[in-house]
Parts: sequence; structure tokens; C-alpha cells
Amino acid sequence: MRADEEGIKEAGAIAAAGGLVAFPTETVYGLGANAYDGEAVKRIYAAKGRPSDNPLIVHISDTSGIEELADGVSENARKLISAFMPGPFTIILKKSERLGGAVTAGMDTVGIRCPENETARRFIKAAGVPIAAPSANLSGRPSPTKASHVTEDMNGRIDAIINGGDCSVGVESTIVDASREIPVLLRPGGITYGQLKDVVPETEIDPNILGSLDENERPLCPGMKYKHYAPEAEVTVVEGGTDAVRKKIAELLERNADRVCGVLTMSENTYDSAVILCAGTTNREYAKNLFGCLREFDRLGAELVFAEFEERDGYGLAVKNRLYRAAAHRVIRVGAAEENKEMDHL
Ligand code: AMP
Ligand code: MG
Repeated sequence: MRADEEGIKEAGAIAAAGGLVAFPTETVYGLGANAYDGEAVKRIYAAKGRPSDNPLIVHISDTSGIEELADGVSENARKLISAFMPGPFTIILKKSERLGGAVTAGMDTVGIRCPENETARRFIKAAGVPIAAPSANLSGRPSPTKASHVTEDMNGRIDAIINGGDCSVGVESTIVDASREIPVLLRPGGITYGQLKDVVPETEIDPNILGSLDENERPLCPGMKYKHYAPEAEVTVVEGGTDAVRKKIAELLERNADRVCGVLTMSENTYDSAVILCAGTTNREYAKNLFGCLREFDRLGAELVFAEFEERDGYGLAVKNRLYRAAAHRVIRVGAAEENKEMDHL
């Protein structure tokens, strides 16, 4: 439905009555339901095929809504809230009694986000309740950054989609656990680590952000342990300086001439014999375009995708975090041979 007054009012009523509504935010499209309605929340997990131990983020239209969801807000948490909300930012706090178990997957903490996107906030306000929402994609697929991505994955599984155009950030919110003394960055996103440290200098960074999890390790952010953002194609990240990356990818293309290869580039540069998509020349643009490009490679039938990557700005960490997962940690660092294990089949 349209993101006009009538459409938003109708969508709010559907969510208030226990329905599932996909809505735009500045990060990615969300799949929302009344956070206080346990049955509606369970329907989100079913529609996405999401494991039930992966908690949802609760969305509010105004930071005053934090009071009824959280049980205690520390001084550091307060600083982060006033600096980054509304915005592409999620804060983890101890949860209040009011929230049921399904939305937080049985944890004693809750992730709370107040989006900046006007349509998102008007929709939450129209629903009159906090909105539990993960990204509006099938579990494991790249997150949706356009209404058409939501339709691709969710058609027939949900009650409404509010079409609000393209998402401006393109990767999911930055998640910070502020339920403890020292805040910890659990997922990089639209708010950079540098910005967080400017507000709370002692903020730490979870080591799993770029690593692959050990089977026995318990992730702080449960979503981290699942396969994520993956297109049908097998993605390999080639990371390093521009010239070395281009040379390596040209080599890989030659070696895989019998396969349908795609290249995700950070320049206008073109390669021979490949499907080329440009993610943008900055990491900021890369974040905005990454998920759409991954879906586009599938549409174009790519079997192998080589993704150029170079850290260029504060969004680098967020892009790298998504890209490494999309690639199931197949990363070739140009010039660092010891990093390139298990690449022999390429
Ligand atoms: P998404 O499905 O993209 O909306 O991602 C939601 C992310 O927020 C998942 O990775 C969850 O694990 C994480 N999350 C939500 N609530 C909590 C919480 N209470 N503690 C830690 N992580 C959380
Ligand atoms: Mg998601």
C-alpha cells in the first residue's frame, strides 16, 4: 500500500489487530507485528522461517516509549540514546515484565530501536503499540532495501507492505549492548564505531563481528551464528588495494571461464567475460547497494561472485561484516597467502 495517510492508517490497524506489515525504515525494510501480541510475534518467525532463538528488535515512534519496554537505563545508555535515537541504532537493555518471551527469544534483555524514517514512525504511531520487527526477508537471504525485494520473499506470507521507496542506509542498524556496565558494539551499521566512541569512549567491540563463530561459542547477539545475507551464487571477497584486487579478480575470472561469473566492483572498471555490478566507490554507497546487488546477481544467473572490497570510510566495518557472511568467510586478502586457505577449488 501507499505511504500516504490513508495507507499508513490502514497498515497501523492491521498491525494492531495482530497482522503482519512490512514497512520501510532508513536501514532495511522491517516485518512488523504488535510486540505485545505473542501470537502475532510467532507469525513473524513462521513467515520468515526464522529460528525461534533469534530475538526481534522492538521499534518505537518516540524515545519516550523506552520506559515501558526497559527495566533500568544506565548513564551510558542514556548518552547513547540521546545521541543516536531516532536513527539507525538499536540499544540492548534489560527488558521489562510487560514484554512476553517470544519477542526476546526468552532472553532477559530487549533490543529497542526508534527509526528516523518518517513513514516508519507514522506507522508505529498509527498501530498504537511497539512494533517487533526483524528484516522483511526470508531467513538467510539478503535483507530487503526496496519494496520489490519484500514482495520477492514475502508475497502471500504477510498481510500488507507499505511501499516507501529505497532505504537510504541499506544495512541493518548498529546494535550496542548497553545492559552492562561497559557498552559493547554487537553489530556495525549506520552509526559507526567512531561515532559511538565519541559519545562513550570506553565502548568495546565484540570480536565476533568479523570472525566466524566457533561451534561451541555462545554469541552475544544470537543472530550472529546463522548463515546470513546469502545469495544463490557462491560469493568470494577479494580485499586489498585497488590494483592488486583487480589483478586477482582478472585471474580468477580466467580460471573460471566455464562458469557464469559476476563481479561486484568499487570502481567503474570493467572486466572481460563477467556480469559487472558497481556497488559504489565509497563504503557508504557500498552499504546502500550491497543487498540489492546480491539479489541482482541471482536474477542474472551468476554462479560465482567476486566482490572487490577496500576499507575507505566509517561504513567499512558494516559492509565487511555483511560481505564476509554473504561469502561464508571466503575472503582472499591480496598479498597475504596464509589467509587464502580453502580457495584451491576456485
Ligand atoms: P534482524 O533480523 O536483521 O532484524 O536482526 C535482529 C538482530 O538483533 C538479531 O541479530 C538479533 O540477534 C539481535 N537482537 C535482538 N534482540 C537482542 C537482544 N536482546 N540481545 C542481543 N541481540 C539482540
Ligand atoms: Mg535480518
